[in-house]
Amino acid sequence: MSPEKIDCLIIGSGPAGYTAAIYASRAGLKPVLYTGPQPGGQLTITTDVENYPGYPDGITGPEMMMDFEKQAKRFGTDVRYGMATAVDFSGGQHKVTIDEKFEIEAETVIISTGASAKWLGLPGEERLNGRGVSACAVCDGFFFRGQDVVVVGAGDTAAEEASYLAKLCRKVTVLVRRDEMRASNIMQKRLMSLTNVEILWNTETVELLGKEDLEGVKIVNNQTGKESVLDVSGFFVAIGHKPNTDIFKGQLDMDAAGYIQTVKGSTYTNIEGVFACGDAQDVIYRQAVTAAGTGCMAALDAERYLAEHEMMAQPQMA
Ligand code: NDP
Repeated sequence: MSPEKIDCLIIGSGPAGYTAAIYASRAGLKPVLYTGPQPGGQLTITTDVENYPGYPDGITGPEMMMDFEKQAKRFGTDVRYGMATAVDFSGGQHKVTIDEKFEIEAETVIISTGASAKWLGLPGEERLNGRGVSACAVCDGFFFRGQDVVVVGAGDTAAEEASYLAKLCRKVTVLVRRDEMRASNIMQKRLMSLTNVEILWNTETVELLGKEDLEGVKIVNNQTGKESVLDVSGFFVAIGHKPNTDIFKGQLDMDAAGYIQTVKGSTYTNIEGVFACGDAQDVIYRQAVTAAGTGCMAALDAERYLAEHEMMAQPQMA
């Protein structure tokens, strides 16, 4: 079977992918979008989204992503359920294998595969996700105003999340598994200067308590073995994110953590015609609205790239 040939392939269906799809469709690129294993992306596992402009009363993550999909389809995006399982960016045509079964050849590829929060793997962590357990303070901190919460982690993300939560919550307890934090000095200093933050060193989580909603957290000091229970309603896991970029390894330039590197101020990768947007290339902001912004940029970059190549292919006038 000869591969399907298209102008624009979008891999991933979060805010970045769908925004790229809306712009690419309206520009006549006839994009095909593959949703990936989690159609709608990370927002489909959050509850209320209250910080996305344009929704004054907030909206649930799944509803918002359905709106994104509807809007992309309205302009003709071919949305397909499936995932890219391999890529070959070594030639002029970009080859992408779908579901390990068939190949698509695309003039331009927009990568919007996102990132996934790392979890501790504790029993109940998944069940209580959105019911007290979260991996995003900016998204969910508001729901814990005036309450006591825990943050797990010791890197810059944990320091930043804990500092953010300290402005909203009554008390923030940070659980650090070693006797030091890996976060930058300045962020540690800022965190330690906050009066409603307590850091528990050498401390790990044993169990999340609560049936419907989180009601407490059992912890252990890994030096003394002493267990205790923290009476908290929020549990924020901040042990890092993993960009979903494994299939691009060896072909696209990435940093040590796997975030795709783009040319500053654009979505250009090291391969012509391949663009990256959203959390797959953003280690710092990781918000729906910033992902959508870079999705727009990727579609505009792809459109410009195609236009330039068409121009080059045209016969030269005397
Ligand atoms: P990091 O990988 O830097 O840190 C992860 C932290 O989680 C580590 O302290 C690690 O502990 C801890 N951890 C991992 N697994 C567990 C576990 N099972 N139980 C308890 N703790 C665990 O990830 P970050 O997301 O913090 O940062 C990623 C990158 O993004 C960094 O380069 C960071 O500088 C950058 N960043 C920058 C920001 C900024 O400049 N504003 C904001 C946020 C991130 P241990 O130390 O013991 O290994």
